[in-house]
Amino acid sequence: MKTVANALEDVRRRLCAALVEAGRSPDAAELVAVSKTHPAQRIREAVACGQTHFGESYAQELRDKAPELADLGVRWHFIGRIQKNKAKYIAPLAFRVHGVTHVEQAEALAQRAPGPLKVLLNVDVGGEESKVGIDPAELPALADAVARVAGIELVGLMCIPPYTEDPAESGPYFEQLAHLAARENARGHALTELSMGMTHDFPWAVRHGATWVRVGTAIFGPRT
Ligand SMILES: *Cc1c(COP(=O)(O)O)cnc(C)c1O
Repeated sequence: MKTVANALEDVRRRLCAALVEAGRSPDAAELVAVSKTHPAQRIREAVACGQTHFGESYAQELRDKAPELADLGVRWHFIGRIQKNKAKYIAPLAFRVHGVTHVEQAEALAQRAPGPLKVLLNVDVGGEESKVGIDPAELPALADAVARVAGIELVGLMCIPPYTEDPAESGPYFEQLAHLAARENARGHALTELSMGMTHDFPWAVRHGATWVRVGTAIFGPRT
């Protein structure tokens, strides 16, 4: 099995290549290393290789892991489903919260956040019934409502397109997310961050303007 160091180097090289190929600056997108289910020691290895941003999907796991790594200056991204009663675990620790889908979540986070908290809205670009993201048609109203919550700063959108064998098929979904952000910006929002792209499709997300790519398996190996 690849070491975390080798795997990270490989992912960073592919990220950089995709940015250059897209005519974007090499620092226009940043890597969020998705460490959910992996032990703190693996995160330490990644930090030792210069990785700063880490993604977690489960509030209690974040709460339990973060203190073990408190000395490392890790920036935590909460990328999972947000339960209001878990906001107390997420808000004090998160550098970004990627998956807001209800204004009540933003309110619960704001109540527990020590300072202004930057959030992204999860949009279901694939139109899948089972997905947690909001319907694109609901975006203008949710963006307006979340932007009005004191203590919350709405900075972007995230998506998880339907899985397809061929990652190129994610392209149109990423394009759609970028288009939705531009449309909200024309309405007065400042959605400058696009969180999109995972292990199998992040280079395609970069082509369509991703500013955060969330990559787990390619760095830490399969989750058990
Ligand atoms: C687990 C997860 C990832 C990472 O997925 P990989 O395929 O392992 O890269 C990215 N985003 C979200 C929202 C996740 O839950």
